[in-house]
Amino acid sequence: DSRKYTGIVEDCCCDYETVDSLNGAVLHPLLQEVVKTPFFRYFKVKLWCDCPFWPDDGMCKLRDCSVCECPENEFPESFKKAMHYGLPSDDLKCQEGKPEAAVDRTLDSKVFRGWIEVDNPWTHDDETDNSEMTYVNLQLNPERYTGYTGPSARRIWDAIYSENCPKCQFLFIKSCTLFPLLIVLFVDFMVASTLPIFPFLDTSGEICQEKRVLYKLISGLHSSISIHIASDYLLDETKNLWGRNLELMYDRVLRYPDRVRNLYFTFLFVLRAVTKATNYLEQAEYDTGNMEEDLKAQSLVRQLLYNPKLQAACPLPFDEAKLWQGQSGPELKQEIQKHFRNISALMDCVGCEKCRLWGKLQVLGLGTALKILFSVDGKIHSNQPLQLQRNEVIALVNLLNRLSESVKLVNEIGPSIDKSMGEF
Ligand code: FAD
Repeated sequence: DSRKYTGIVEDCCCDYETVDSLNGAVLHPLLQEVVKTPFFRYFKVKLWCDCPFWPDDGMCKLRDCSVCECPENEFPESFKKAMHYGLPSDDLKCQEGKPEAAVDRTLDSKVFRGWIEVDNPWTHDDETDNSEMTYVNLQLNPERYTGYTGPSARRIWDAIYSENCPKCQFLFIKSCTLFPLLIVLFVDFMVASTLPIFPFLDTSGEICQEKRVLYKLISGLHSSISIHIASDYLLDETKNLWGRNLELMYDRVLRYPDRVRNLYFTFLFVLRAVTKATNYLEQAEYDTGNMEEDLKAQSLVRQLLYNPKLQAACPLPFDEAKLWQGQSGPELKQEIQKHFRNISALMDCVGCEKCRLWGKLQVLGLGTALKILFSVDGKIHSNQPLQLQRNEVIALVNLLNRLSESVKLVNEIGPSIDKSMGEF
Protein backbone atom coordinates (compact mmCIF):
# COMPACT_ATOMS: atom_id res chain seq x y z
CA ASP A 1 0.00 0.00 0.00
CA SER A 2 1.49 3.32 -1.07
CA ARG A 3 -0.53 5.36 1.42
CA LYS A 4 1.46 8.10 3.07
CA TYR A 5 -1.13 8.97 5.70
CA THR A 6 -2.37 6.15 7.89
CA GLY A 7 -3.89 5.78 11.32
CA ILE A 8 -6.27 8.11 13.13
CA VAL A 9 -6.41 11.74 12.05
CA GLU A 10 -4.80 13.57 14.98
CA ASP A 11 -7.34 14.80 17.58
CA CYS A 12 -10.15 13.14 15.62
CA CYS A 13 -11.97 9.86 15.78
CA CYS A 14 -11.59 8.37 12.28
CA ASP A 15 -8.64 7.14 10.26
CA TYR A 16 -7.33 8.47 6.96
CA GLU A 17 -8.37 5.40 4.95
CA THR A 18 -11.95 5.65 6.20
CA VAL A 19 -12.12 9.38 5.48
CA ASP A 20 -10.87 8.83 1.93
CA SER A 21 -13.23 5.99 1.14
CA LEU A 22 -16.24 7.72 2.75
CA ASN A 23 -15.50 10.97 1.02
CA GLY A 24 -14.91 9.40 -2.39
CA ALA A 25 -17.95 7.12 -2.32
CA VAL A 26 -20.54 9.12 -0.39
CA LEU A 27 -19.78 12.63 0.81
CA HIS A 28 -18.13 14.17 -2.24
CA PRO A 29 -20.77 13.07 -4.79
CA LEU A 30 -23.61 14.22 -2.50
CA LEU A 31 -22.03 17.57 -1.66
CA GLN A 32 -21.32 18.30 -5.30
CA GLU A 33 -25.04 17.97 -5.99
CA VAL A 34 -26.17 19.89 -2.90
CA VAL A 35 -24.17 23.01 -3.70
CA LYS A 36 -25.70 23.24 -7.17
CA THR A 37 -29.23 23.63 -5.85
CA PRO A 38 -30.62 27.20 -5.80
CA PHE A 39 -30.79 27.30 -2.00
CA PHE A 40 -27.09 26.61 -1.58
CA ARG A 41 -25.70 28.50 -4.54
CA TYR A 42 -26.74 32.06 -3.56
CA PHE A 43 -24.56 33.55 -0.87
CA LYS A 44 -25.28 36.89 0.80
CA VAL A 45 -22.11 38.88 1.28
CA LYS A 46 -20.75 42.35 1.87
CA LEU A 47 -17.98 42.64 -0.67
CA TRP A 48 -16.74 46.09 0.23
CA CYS A 49 -13.13 46.31 1.02
CA ASP A 50 -13.34 48.07 4.34
CA CYS A 51 -10.23 46.94 6.18
CA PRO A 52 -10.30 47.85 9.88
CA PHE A 53 -6.62 47.04 10.41
CA TRP A 54 -4.60 49.09 7.94
CA PRO A 55 -5.17 51.78 5.29
CA ASP A 56 -6.17 50.84 1.74
CA ASP A 57 -3.05 49.37 0.13
CA GLY A 58 -4.34 49.92 -3.38
CA MET A 59 -5.01 46.21 -3.88
CA CYS A 60 -8.67 46.27 -3.11
CA LYS A 61 -9.93 46.73 -6.63
CA LEU A 62 -7.86 44.26 -8.62
CA ARG A 63 -9.85 43.84 -11.85
CA ASP A 64 -9.06 40.18 -12.53
CA CYS A 65 -10.53 39.24 -9.22
CA SER A 66 -13.95 40.74 -9.84
CA VAL A 67 -17.05 38.91 -8.76
CA CYS A 68 -20.17 38.68 -10.86
CA GLU A 69 -22.99 39.77 -8.56
CA CYS A 70 -26.53 38.59 -9.14
CA PRO A 71 -29.06 40.98 -10.61
CA GLU A 72 -32.00 41.63 -8.22
CA ASN A 73 -34.36 39.39 -10.17
CA GLU A 74 -32.06 36.37 -10.12
CA PHE A 75 -31.83 35.48 -6.48
CA PRO A 76 -34.76 33.80 -4.73
CA GLU A 77 -37.69 35.97 -3.63
CA SER A 78 -37.91 34.13 -0.32
CA PHE A 79 -34.35 35.26 0.50
CA LYS A 80 -35.46 38.88 0.38
CA LYS A 81 -38.29 38.52 2.89
CA ALA A 82 -37.76 39.88 6.36
CA MET A 83 -36.53 37.23 8.71
CA HIS A 84 -37.06 36.57 12.37
CA TYR A 85 -34.87 38.32 14.86
CA GLY A 86 -34.40 35.70 17.54
CA LEU A 87 -37.14 33.24 18.28
CA PRO A 88 -40.55 33.87 16.74
CA SER A 89 -42.87 35.33 19.35
CA ASP A 90 -45.27 32.36 19.14
CA ASP A 91 -42.53 30.11 20.36
CA LEU A 92 -41.67 32.49 23.16
CA LYS A 93 -45.13 32.01 24.55
CA CYS A 94 -44.13 28.40 24.86
CA GLN A 95 -47.71 27.19 24.84
CA GLU A 96 -48.33 28.80 28.19
CA GLY A 97 -51.93 28.58 29.25
CA LYS A 98 -52.75 25.74 26.92
CA PRO A 99 -54.21 22.82 28.84
CA GLU A 100 -51.97 20.30 27.09
CA ALA A 101 -48.79 22.36 27.69
CA ALA A 102 -47.65 20.27 30.63
CA VAL A 103 -47.38 17.14 28.59
CA ASP A 104 -46.93 18.46 25.08
CA ARG A 105 -43.41 17.84 23.93
CA THR A 106 -43.89 18.96 20.35
CA LEU A 107 -42.04 22.22 20.87
CA ASP A 108 -38.97 20.37 22.07
CA SER A 109 -38.76 18.25 18.98
CA LYS A 110 -39.30 21.20 16.64
CA VAL A 111 -35.76 22.42 16.51
CA PHE A 112 -35.99 24.57 13.41
CA ARG A 113 -38.12 27.66 14.03
CA GLY A 114 -37.62 29.57 10.83
CA TRP A 115 -34.52 31.31 9.59
CA ILE A 116 -33.27 33.91 12.02
CA GLU A 117 -31.00 36.92 11.83
CA VAL A 118 -28.85 36.87 14.90
CA ASP A 119 -25.19 37.75 14.79
CA ASN A 120 -22.75 34.91 15.11
CA PRO A 121 -20.51 35.56 18.13
CA TRP A 122 -17.59 33.90 16.33
CA THR A 123 -17.65 36.21 13.30
CA HIS A 124 -17.21 39.89 12.63
CA ASP A 125 -19.78 40.78 9.97
CA ASP A 126 -23.06 42.30 11.00
CA GLU A 127 -25.33 39.87 9.19
CA THR A 128 -28.43 41.87 10.00
CA ASP A 129 -27.25 44.84 7.99
CA ASN A 130 -28.90 43.90 4.72
CA SER A 131 -28.42 47.27 3.08
CA GLU A 132 -24.75 46.55 2.42
CA MET A 133 -25.19 42.99 1.24
CA THR A 134 -25.35 41.59 -2.26
CA TYR A 135 -26.09 38.09 -3.49
CA VAL A 136 -23.53 36.10 -5.41
CA ASN A 137 -24.11 32.97 -7.46
CA LEU A 138 -21.27 30.77 -6.23
CA GLN A 139 -21.51 28.49 -9.25
CA LEU A 140 -20.58 31.40 -11.50
CA ASN A 141 -17.67 32.50 -9.32
CA PRO A 142 -15.58 29.40 -8.60
CA GLU A 143 -12.71 29.52 -6.18
CA ARG A 144 -9.60 29.25 -8.37
CA TYR A 145 -6.37 31.00 -9.27
CA THR A 146 -6.88 34.77 -9.47
CA GLY A 147 -3.34 36.15 -9.54
CA TYR A 148 -3.74 37.66 -6.07
CA THR A 149 -0.30 37.32 -4.56
CA GLY A 150 2.63 39.31 -3.20
CA PRO A 151 2.84 41.44 -0.05
CA SER A 152 -0.91 42.15 0.16
CA ALA A 153 -1.87 38.45 0.29
CA ARG A 154 1.13 37.66 2.46
CA ARG A 155 0.17 40.32 4.98
CA ILE A 156 -3.28 38.77 5.44
CA TRP A 157 -1.96 35.27 6.06
CA ASP A 158 0.74 36.64 8.40
CA ALA A 159 -1.90 38.56 10.35
CA ILE A 160 -4.22 35.53 10.44
CA TYR A 161 -1.49 33.31 11.85
CA SER A 162 -0.41 36.00 14.27
CA GLU A 163 -3.90 35.73 15.74
CA ASN A 164 -2.95 32.16 16.52
CA CYS A 165 0.73 31.95 16.89
CA PRO A 166 2.63 34.28 19.17
CA LYS A 167 5.88 33.82 17.30
CA CYS A 168 4.26 34.85 14.03
CA GLN A 169 2.86 38.04 15.51
CA PHE A 170 6.32 38.88 16.76
CA LEU A 171 7.83 38.22 13.33
CA PHE A 172 5.05 40.21 11.69
CA ILE A 173 5.86 43.25 13.79
CA LYS A 174 9.60 42.79 13.31
CA SER A 175 9.26 42.67 9.54
CA CYS A 176 7.35 45.96 9.37
CA THR A 177 8.90 49.26 8.48
CA LEU A 178 8.40 52.10 10.93
CA PHE A 179 5.16 53.52 9.56
CA PRO A 180 3.25 50.23 9.35
CA LEU A 181 4.76 49.34 12.70
CA LEU A 182 3.13 52.39 14.25
CA ILE A 183 -0.13 51.45 12.59
CA VAL A 184 0.12 47.90 13.86
CA LEU A 185 0.81 49.10 17.37
CA PHE A 186 -2.04 51.60 17.12
CA VAL A 187 -4.41 48.92 15.79
CA ASP A 188 -3.24 46.50 18.44
CA PHE A 189 -4.01 49.17 20.98
CA MET A 190 -7.34 50.33 19.53
CA VAL A 191 -8.82 47.15 18.12
CA ALA A 192 -7.18 44.39 20.04
CA SER A 193 -5.90 46.17 23.07
CA THR A 194 -7.08 43.33 25.20
CA LEU A 195 -4.98 40.82 23.26
CA PRO A 196 -1.70 40.13 24.90
CA ILE A 197 1.25 40.10 22.51
CA PHE A 198 1.75 36.42 23.20
CA PRO A 199 -1.86 35.40 23.45
CA PHE A 200 -1.59 31.67 23.14
CA LEU A 201 1.21 30.70 25.45
CA ASP A 202 0.19 29.35 28.81
CA THR A 203 2.45 29.77 31.80
CA SER A 204 4.43 26.65 30.96
CA GLY A 205 5.06 27.87 27.42
CA GLU A 206 2.87 25.11 25.95
CA ILE A 207 0.19 25.78 23.37
CA CYS A 208 -2.97 24.25 24.76
CA GLN A 209 -5.20 21.87 22.86
CA GLU A 210 -7.94 24.41 22.13
CA LYS A 211 -5.47 26.85 20.61
CA ARG A 212 -3.90 24.07 18.59
CA VAL A 213 -7.36 23.23 17.26
CA LEU A 214 -7.87 26.81 16.07
CA TYR A 215 -4.44 26.84 14.42
CA LYS A 216 -5.18 23.55 12.68
CA LEU A 217 -8.53 24.83 11.42
CA ILE A 218 -6.88 27.88 9.84
CA SER A 219 -4.00 25.88 8.44
CA GLY A 220 -6.41 23.27 7.03
CA LEU A 221 -8.45 26.01 5.38
CA HIS A 222 -5.25 27.55 3.97
CA SER A 223 -4.27 24.15 2.53
CA SER A 224 -7.68 23.82 0.93
CA ILE A 225 -7.50 27.29 -0.64
CA SER A 226 -4.02 26.50 -2.03
CA ILE A 227 -5.23 23.15 -3.41
CA HIS A 228 -8.05 24.94 -5.24
CA ILE A 229 -5.68 27.55 -6.65
CA ALA A 230 -3.40 24.80 -7.93
CA SER A 231 -6.17 22.61 -9.30
CA ASP A 232 -7.75 25.41 -11.35
CA TYR A 233 -4.75 27.42 -12.47
CA LEU A 234 -4.15 29.77 -15.41
CA LEU A 235 -1.44 27.73 -17.14
CA ASP A 236 -1.09 29.90 -20.23
CA GLU A 237 -2.34 33.48 -20.16
CA THR A 238 -2.11 34.09 -23.94
CA LYS A 239 -4.13 30.96 -24.74
CA ASN A 240 -6.37 31.40 -21.68
CA LEU A 241 -5.56 27.81 -20.82
CA TRP A 242 -6.68 26.60 -17.38
CA GLY A 243 -5.73 23.36 -15.69
CA ARG A 244 -3.87 21.69 -12.83
CA ASN A 245 -0.56 23.02 -11.63
CA LEU A 246 0.80 19.97 -9.83
CA GLU A 247 4.12 21.56 -9.01
CA LEU A 248 2.35 24.37 -7.17
CA MET A 249 0.15 21.88 -5.33
CA TYR A 250 3.24 20.01 -4.20
CA ASP A 251 5.19 23.15 -3.26
CA ARG A 252 2.40 24.73 -1.24
CA VAL A 253 0.75 21.76 0.41
CA LEU A 254 1.75 18.19 -0.39
CA ARG A 255 5.39 18.47 0.59
CA TYR A 256 4.31 19.53 4.09
CA PRO A 257 2.68 16.55 5.87
CA ASP A 258 1.31 18.78 8.64
CA ARG A 259 -0.61 20.91 6.11
CA VAL A 260 -2.19 17.78 4.66
CA ARG A 261 -3.04 16.49 8.13
CA ASN A 262 -4.58 19.83 9.07
CA LEU A 263 -6.74 19.67 5.95
CA TYR A 264 -8.14 16.28 7.01
CA PHE A 265 -8.63 17.58 10.54
CA THR A 266 -10.59 20.62 9.35
CA PHE A 267 -12.72 18.43 7.10
CA LEU A 268 -13.65 16.14 10.02
CA PHE A 269 -14.27 19.09 12.33
CA VAL A 270 -16.74 20.68 9.91
CA LEU A 271 -18.31 17.31 9.14
CA ARG A 272 -18.90 16.83 12.88
CA ALA A 273 -20.58 20.23 13.10
CA VAL A 274 -22.91 19.31 10.24
CA THR A 275 -23.81 15.96 11.79
CA LYS A 276 -24.28 17.53 15.22
CA ALA A 277 -26.82 19.92 13.70
CA THR A 278 -28.71 17.00 12.12
CA ASN A 279 -32.09 17.76 13.72
CA TYR A 280 -31.88 21.41 12.76
CA LEU A 281 -30.70 20.81 9.20
CA GLU A 282 -33.24 18.07 8.67
CA GLN A 283 -36.13 20.36 9.57
CA ALA A 284 -34.81 23.53 7.94
CA GLU A 285 -36.77 25.07 5.08
CA TYR A 286 -34.76 25.06 1.88
CA ASP A 287 -37.21 27.42 0.27
CA THR A 288 -36.37 29.38 -2.85
CA GLY A 289 -39.77 29.20 -4.54
CA ASN A 290 -38.65 26.42 -6.88
CA MET A 291 -40.41 23.47 -5.33
CA GLU A 292 -38.72 20.73 -7.30
CA GLU A 293 -35.22 22.06 -6.64
CA ASP A 294 -36.00 22.79 -2.99
CA LEU A 295 -37.22 19.24 -2.40
CA LYS A 296 -34.07 18.02 -4.06
CA ALA A 297 -31.92 20.15 -1.74
CA GLN A 298 -33.78 18.81 1.29
CA SER A 299 -33.51 15.23 0.13
CA LEU A 300 -29.77 15.54 -0.57
CA VAL A 301 -29.15 17.08 2.85
CA ARG A 302 -31.03 14.19 4.46
CA GLN A 303 -29.06 11.64 2.45
CA LEU A 304 -25.93 13.26 3.81
CA LEU A 305 -27.08 13.46 7.42
CA TYR A 306 -28.55 9.98 7.62
CA ASN A 307 -26.04 8.18 5.49
CA PRO A 308 -25.64 4.62 6.83
CA LYS A 309 -22.04 4.39 5.61
CA LEU A 310 -21.12 7.59 7.43
CA GLN A 311 -22.87 6.46 10.58
CA ALA A 312 -21.19 3.06 10.48
CA ALA A 313 -17.67 4.15 9.55
CA CYS A 314 -17.26 7.50 11.24
CA PRO A 315 -20.18 8.28 13.57
CA LEU A 316 -18.22 10.89 15.57
CA PRO A 317 -15.75 12.61 13.22
CA PHE A 318 -14.51 14.90 16.02
CA ASP A 319 -15.20 14.82 19.75
CA GLU A 320 -15.90 18.37 20.85
CA ALA A 321 -16.63 17.27 24.43
CA LYS A 322 -12.89 16.88 25.02
CA LEU A 323 -12.30 20.62 24.77
CA TRP A 324 -12.68 23.38 27.38
CA GLN A 325 -12.31 20.88 30.20
CA GLY A 326 -9.71 22.83 32.17
CA GLN A 327 -10.51 25.34 34.88
CA SER A 328 -10.00 28.30 32.60
CA GLY A 329 -12.35 26.81 29.99
CA PRO A 330 -14.89 29.68 29.82
CA GLU A 331 -12.26 32.45 29.64
CA LEU A 332 -10.26 30.47 27.13
CA LYS A 333 -13.31 30.07 24.97
CA GLN A 334 -14.01 33.79 25.01
CA GLU A 335 -10.40 34.54 24.20
CA ILE A 336 -10.40 32.17 21.23
CA GLN A 337 -13.76 33.51 20.10
CA LYS A 338 -12.31 37.01 20.06
CA HIS A 339 -9.32 35.86 18.05
CA PHE A 340 -11.53 34.15 15.53
CA ARG A 341 -13.62 37.32 15.20
CA ASN A 342 -10.43 39.21 14.36
CA ILE A 343 -9.60 36.63 11.71
CA SER A 344 -13.10 37.10 10.33
CA ALA A 345 -12.59 40.90 10.28
CA LEU A 346 -9.33 40.42 8.37
CA MET A 347 -11.33 39.13 5.42
CA ASP A 348 -12.30 42.76 4.73
CA CYS A 349 -8.61 43.41 4.00
CA VAL A 350 -8.29 40.74 1.30
CA GLY A 351 -7.38 42.74 -1.80
CA CYS A 352 -9.15 40.60 -4.38
CA GLU A 353 -12.90 40.46 -4.58
CA LYS A 354 -13.21 36.81 -5.49
CA CYS A 355 -10.71 35.74 -2.83
CA ARG A 356 -12.61 37.92 -0.35
CA LEU A 357 -15.87 36.23 -1.34
CA TRP A 358 -14.52 32.72 -0.72
CA GLY A 359 -12.50 33.87 2.28
CA LYS A 360 -15.62 35.32 3.87
CA LEU A 361 -17.75 32.33 3.01
CA GLN A 362 -15.28 29.83 4.40
CA VAL A 363 -14.50 31.79 7.55
CA LEU A 364 -18.25 32.15 8.16
CA GLY A 365 -18.55 28.41 7.56
CA LEU A 366 -15.86 27.75 10.17
CA GLY A 367 -17.49 30.26 12.53
CA THR A 368 -20.77 28.40 12.09
CA ALA A 369 -19.09 25.07 12.83
CA LEU A 370 -17.57 26.60 15.99
CA LYS A 371 -20.97 27.99 16.98
CA ILE A 372 -22.66 24.61 16.52
CA LEU A 373 -19.98 22.69 18.40
CA PHE A 374 -19.35 25.14 21.20
CA SER A 375 -22.73 26.75 21.84
CA VAL A 376 -23.90 30.17 20.85
CA ASP A 377 -22.98 32.19 23.89
CA GLY A 378 -19.87 32.26 26.02
CA LYS A 379 -21.08 29.46 28.26
CA ILE A 380 -19.67 25.97 28.10
CA HIS A 381 -22.96 24.15 28.57
CA SER A 382 -25.55 26.35 26.98
CA ASN A 383 -29.21 25.48 27.20
CA GLN A 384 -29.99 27.86 24.39
CA PRO A 385 -31.48 26.13 21.38
CA LEU A 386 -29.38 26.23 18.25
CA GLN A 387 -30.39 29.02 15.91
CA LEU A 388 -28.75 29.51 12.56
CA GLN A 389 -29.00 32.04 9.80
CA ARG A 390 -29.74 30.85 6.31
CA ASN A 391 -26.40 32.29 5.21
CA GLU A 392 -24.57 30.36 7.91
CA VAL A 393 -26.00 27.07 6.67
CA ILE A 394 -25.13 27.97 3.08
CA ALA A 395 -21.55 28.83 4.16
CA LEU A 396 -21.20 25.69 6.29
CA VAL A 397 -22.28 23.32 3.53
CA ASN A 398 -20.25 25.06 0.84
CA LEU A 399 -17.19 24.99 3.10
CA LEU A 400 -17.67 21.26 3.68
CA ASN A 401 -17.86 20.79 -0.07
CA ARG A 402 -14.65 22.76 -0.66
CA LEU A 403 -12.82 20.70 1.97
CA SER A 404 -14.23 17.50 0.55
CA GLU A 405 -12.93 18.46 -2.92
CA SER A 406 -9.48 19.17 -1.48
CA VAL A 407 -9.35 15.89 0.43
CA LYS A 408 -10.34 14.03 -2.73
CA LEU A 409 -7.67 15.78 -4.80
CA VAL A 410 -4.97 15.10 -2.20
CA ASN A 411 -5.97 11.45 -2.00
CA GLU A 412 -6.08 10.96 -5.76
CA ILE A 413 -3.17 13.08 -6.91
CA GLY A 414 -0.94 13.13 -3.84
CA PRO A 415 0.70 9.68 -4.16
CA SER A 416 1.61 10.17 -7.85
CA ILE A 417 3.08 13.61 -7.19
CA ASP A 418 5.05 12.26 -4.25
CA LYS A 419 6.53 9.61 -6.56
CA SER A 420 7.51 12.07 -9.26
CA MET A 421 8.57 14.85 -6.92
CA GLY A 422 12.18 14.44 -8.03
CA GLU A 423 11.13 15.99 -11.33
CA PHE A 424 10.10 19.25 -9.71
P1 FAD B 1 0.72 31.78 0.86
O1 FAD B 1 -0.30 30.78 0.50
O2 FAD B 1 0.39 33.22 0.79
O3 FAD B 1 1.26 31.42 2.32
C1 FAD B 1 1.98 32.36 3.11
C2 FAD B 1 2.82 31.60 4.14
O4 FAD B 1 1.95 30.91 5.03
C3 FAD B 1 3.70 30.50 3.53
O5 FAD B 1 4.93 31.01 3.10
C4 FAD B 1 3.84 29.54 4.68
O6 FAD B 1 4.85 29.96 5.57
C5 FAD B 1 2.52 29.64 5.39
N1 FAD B 1 1.58 28.58 4.96
C6 FAD B 1 1.17 28.29 3.71
N2 FAD B 1 0.24 27.32 3.71
C7 FAD B 1 0.08 26.95 5.01
C8 FAD B 1 -0.74 26.00 5.66
N3 FAD B 1 -1.59 25.23 5.00
N4 FAD B 1 -0.66 25.90 7.00
C9 FAD B 1 0.20 26.70 7.71
N5 FAD B 1 0.98 27.63 7.15
C10 FAD B 1 0.93 27.77 5.82
N6 FAD B 1 -5.39 33.42 -4.41
C11 FAD B 1 -6.00 32.92 -5.52
O7 FAD B 1 -5.37 32.82 -6.58
N7 FAD B 1 -7.32 32.51 -5.47
C12 FAD B 1 -8.05 32.57 -4.32
O8 FAD B 1 -9.23 32.23 -4.30
C13 FAD B 1 -7.42 33.10 -3.15
N8 FAD B 1 -8.09 33.22 -1.99
C14 FAD B 1 -7.48 33.78 -0.91
C15 FAD B 1 -8.21 33.93 0.27
C16 FAD B 1 -7.61 34.53 1.37
C17 FAD B 1 -8.42 34.70 2.63
C18 FAD B 1 -6.27 34.98 1.29
C19 FAD B 1 -5.62 35.63 2.48
C20 FAD B 1 -5.55 34.81 0.14
C21 FAD B 1 -6.14 34.21 -0.97
N9 FAD B 1 -5.42 34.03 -2.16
C22 FAD B 1 -6.05 33.51 -3.25
C23 FAD B 1 -3.97 34.27 -2.21
C24 FAD B 1 -3.21 32.94 -1.91
O9 FAD B 1 -3.73 32.30 -0.74
C25 FAD B 1 -1.71 33.16 -1.67
O10 FAD B 1 -1.54 34.09 -0.65
C26 FAD B 1 -0.96 33.62 -2.90
O11 FAD B 1 -1.20 32.72 -3.95
C27 FAD B 1 0.57 33.69 -2.61
O12 FAD B 1 1.03 32.41 -2.19
P2 FAD B 1 2.40 32.14 -1.44
O13 FAD B 1 3.13 31.05 -2.16
O14 FAD B 1 3.13 33.41 -1.22
O15 FAD B 1 2.02 31.49 -0.03
